[in-house]
Amino acid sequence: MQEAMIEKAKQLLADGTVNRVIGWKRGEFAYDITPAVFRNAEELEADFVYDDFTAANVSKYLVKESAKEGKILAFLKPCDTYSFNQLTKEHRVVRDNVYIVGIPSEGKLDIEKIKAKGISGVLSVERDGDTLKIETVYGTETMPVSEAISTKCLSCKSKKHVVYDELIGEDGDVIASDRFDMVEKLENMTAKERYEFWREQLSKCIRCNACRNVCPACTCEKCVFDNPNSGVENKAASDSFEENMFHIIRAFHVAGRCTDCGECSRVCPQNIPLHLLNRKFIKDINSLYGEYQAGEDTTSKAPLTNYTFDDCEASIVHERGVE
Ligand code: SF4
Ligand code: SF4
Ligand code: SF4
Repeated sequence: MQEAMIEKAKQLLADGTVNRVIGWKRGEFAYDITPAVFRNAEELEADFVYDDFTAANVSKYLVKESAKEGKILAFLKPCDTYSFNQLTKEHRVVRDNVYIVGIPSEGKLDIEKIKAKGISGVLSVERDGDTLKIETVYGTETMPVSEAISTKCLSCKSKKHVVYDELIGEDGDVIASDRFDMVEKLENMTAKERYEFWREQLSKCIRCNACRNVCPACTCEKCVFDNPNSGVENKAASDSFEENMFHIIRAFHVAGRCTDCGECSRVCPQNIPLHLLNRKFIKDINSLYGEYQAGEDTTSKAPLTNYTFDDCEASIVHERGVE
């Protein structure tokens, strides 16, 4: 897949369709893959990476990138296309400035699940059928692929790309996901049990803000958590009330807009299952207002919030100049 993507990117750069490419490059470790912009064939050949650890959704980066001169190529997995559509709906990305190549995803790996098996010093990871071959500084290890698939991919809702200019490979379908099963378990707990579950989880939060920073729904030019007068500004939470409030505020802000991309939970260094909070909102919206999937389209009326150019806080869309 990586070679096909590099070839496609080189072709689209060469024929002038795009003037740059957003993709990923390796960080310090083999599994440490980070988004990056490439401007020519040499940069692509030197650093472009797409592998089992290339999980980061680049849609959010397109808010700023699509406001620049010229068209940018973005490779989007099915789940990423929902985020992109939602950003289009909210006038946050300039659709015409992005050339989207849809790519399939068979499920990304989570390095933390590999490390949890006591495997350390990981140098490289390769799939061999249903088995992972893991080269480490201490020798070769193996484990079942299924035990290393990231949590967000285990409850994937769709293999279908909801927006693209072209595809590499075949498109998939919306799938019957079990993503609300755990939410139902939480609903069936007593209020005390549920409170204890969330207190145990949220008390681990170190307020690093990774969940907000990665979230494609959190693209406000002025975020409440950046406002020192808000009473909830970015800082380590000093008590359980502050710990809870950060998450409650964010969950309400993304309600009806969260596409369930799973990025918040994926990046949380404390492994807090944030997606369960957002999924509870999605499930409630489905039952209160009718089935709704954020990001499925760019035109339908959203159940709670519509972003328009006459918003009272117009800076959300106007400062971007997206019409
Ligand atoms: S990513 Fe995790 S630890 Fe960081 S602020 Fe979010 S919930 Fe807290
Ligand atoms: S709240 Fe989490 S799952 Fe929802 S859009 Fe943001 S990062 Fe994705
Ligand atoms: S939705 Fe709320 S938490 Fe997210 S960026 Fe906007 S103000 Fe901040």
